[in-house]
Formats: sequence, structure tokens, C-alpha cells
Amino acid sequence: MSQSLLLRVRAALAGVINPQSGKNIVADGAVQGLGADDEGRVRFALAVPEGAGREAAEALLAEAKKAAGAVDGVSVVTAVATAHGSAKQPQGRHSPQATASAHDNPFGLKNKPRVEAAAETLSGVKSIIAVASGKGGVGKSTVAANLAVALAASGLKTGLLDADVYGPSAPTLFGIKDKPTMNDGKIVPHEAYGVKIMSIGMLIDPEQAIAWRGPMVMGAVRQLMSDVDWGELDVMIIDTPPGTGDTHLSLIQSKRLSGAVIVSTPQEMALADMRRGVSLFRQTETPVIGVIENMAWLEMPGGERQYLFGEGGAKKAAEALGAPFLGAIPLYPELRQASDDGLPLAARDHPGADVFKKLARDVAGYIKTK
Ligand code: ADP
Repeated sequence: MSQSLLLRVRAALAGVINPQSGKNIVADGAVQGLGADDEGRVRFALAVPEGAGREAAEALLAEAKKAAGAVDGVSVVTAVATAHGSAKQPQGRHSPQATASAHDNPFGLKNKPRVEAAAETLSGVKSIIAVASGKGGVGKSTVAANLAVALAASGLKTGLLDADVYGPSAPTLFGIKDKPTMNDGKIVPHEAYGVKIMSIGMLIDPEQAIAWRGPMVMGAVRQLMSDVDWGELDVMIIDTPPGTGDTHLSLIQSKRLSGAVIVSTPQEMALADMRRGVSLFRQTETPVIGVIENMAWLEMPGGERQYLFGEGGAKKAAEALGAPFLGAIPLYPELRQASDDGLPLAARDHPGADVFKKLARDVAGYIKTK
């Protein structure tokens, strides 16, 4: 990727003023996940302020795309606005506002980049579900892993693709230390608790990945899809990086996602980002299966609940967005311990395991209807 191309695109985007903030869209932080590949394909997400209104959001997005597209060397611009204020939609899984053409090609891409093409190779995988969160540290990976274990325990052939390139945790969560082996030119995924597991953390040194840029991340995610022998799966859970970036856009573009599960804590700071995530998936007609509230409360020895991050925030936010609420997971010191020990709580005899089983039932129920 040309670094100078990225700089020039950034400079062009800085010429676009956001009427809501009065600042340019780079300065006010609206441009997120900006990346470009060697062929001049530019991607970004535009976080439009709440309450901007759909038309204003679309106008700003169009202006930003035009500015980026006018830069010498840019072949195609892939961008999506993420703003819950502008994308308020009635209840239901599909956005009636999205046009047929947007559905066919939501980002206006001419050629399919490699992740999208790679997703098509997962022909033996019936459903793919992205687990996403607005912020890091809300327990997304913990939920993805335990949900996968509970889905496998319910009898579904389950895979877990840990695509959280900036914080791969599946190896820790499952206590996997060995590098994967190869068979017939394909990587053989690890198997634990009935789940086929592959993590970007098994291929690279996570400390290196922090410095990775968009195309490298995409290359890694592509490899996790097409070079791994996933075989036949009823469901593949993808642990996506926090926020809304390239990985999400690529997965959405692949049209292989059956839906997304969004994890948030009840805290207002996390909720703002969660709303953005819901908005992104909805704008692209990816069904939001539901919101999971994690770290909902801490149970005291007397049975009293302490709401460390506020009470019911994610549930209320889900209701306000018209997104299904799948359930709350309390703070369990044993869950943290089990995760560090590489022994998923969902496979143990613990009240937390029942919570994950219930979530798995809902997710399994959802994919049966697909
Ligand atoms: P993310 O993927 O969102 O960055 P993680 O899944 O890595 O977050 O979780 C962050 C930390 O919080 C980990 O140490 C994990 O063990 C812990 N954790 C997550 N959910 C819970 C919970 N419900 N109770 C106790 N600890 C939790």
C-alpha cells in the first residue's frame, strides 16, 4: 500500500467540513478505519454525529467519497456511514430504506477484494455469525468463545474464527500453545470442546500485528478463511476486532454473514460505540441477531447485585434501537479465571454456563430460521 496515497486521501478528506461539528471530518474523528491497497482501493467508515439525519449523513458520505475518489491514484472508494441517529429504522431485521442496488453492492465496489472472495470459499459452512463490540475490553472474545462452546455442546458443528487481529485471545481462552499443522496444503484448525478453532494469534506474533495496516489485516483474515480446512460447519462464529473497521466491511461485503451479535457493557461510554455497530450492520442489511449485555452486575455473597457499570444500560439501548436483547451476563470472577486458565466456563458446571447455553439456544434458534 502506498503510504503517500493514504496521506493524500487523508488530506482530501480533511477538506470536507462536517456541518454538525463545524470541523473537518478528519479533525472531528469521523473518518475511521481508513485504508488503501496497492490497487488504489480506499476504504473508510464515516461516523456521523447522532441526530444528523439520514439525508445529511448521506450527503456528507457522498461528499467524502467524492473527495477521496478525486485523489490521483484512487481507483475505487468503499465507504459507509455509521450513525445511529441517521439510521433510525423501524423494528425488524432489514432496512426498508436500503435500495435493491445498495443491497447488491452496498459499497459500490467494482472488483471483489480478497476477503470477500475468500468468504465464498467457505461453502461447507452453513451460517456465519460475527460477534462485534463498539469497544475493546467489554468481553467480546470471552462471549464469542463461550458461545461457540455452548453451540457445540448443543450438537451443532461449530467453528470459531478469531479475527481480532489486534487482540487475538482464542489461544489463551482455549489454552492452545501449539502452532497449527498443515494437511494437503491447508491449515488444520485446533479442536477443543467440540469447536474447530483458528486464530490469527496462532499464525503471527500478536505484538507484530499491532502495527499492521488495513491490507495486511485483510490478508490475514483472508488466510483464516480460505487456507484453513474448516470442513462442514453448521455455524462459524467470527470474533471481530473492536469497533467498526475494515474487517467488518469486508465480512458484510462478502454477504456470507447470517447476522451479528453485539456485545456491550451497560456503561454509557461503551453504549455509544455499540449503537454505531448496530447502525453499521443495519445500514448494510446484515441482521442484528441481538445485543448481549456483559459485566451486567456482580453478585455479592448475600445475593445482592452490584451494578458496577450501571444497571441495564445495554438492554435499554437495544430496546431504544429496536434491536433484540439476548440477555445479560453477570461479572463472574470464575469466568475471568477460567478464561485465563484456558478452560471455558461454558463447559463447566457453573451458573455462567447456563447463561451461555441460553444465549446459544437463541442463536441456534435464529440460524434455524435462515
Ligand atoms: P474484548 O474481546 O471485548 O476485548 P475480553 O473478552 O478479552 O474482551 O475480556 C476482557 C477481560 O474481561 C478478560 O480478562 C476477561 O476474562 C474478562 N471478562 C469478560 N467478561 C467477563 C465477565 N462476565 N465476568 C468476569 N470477567 C469477564
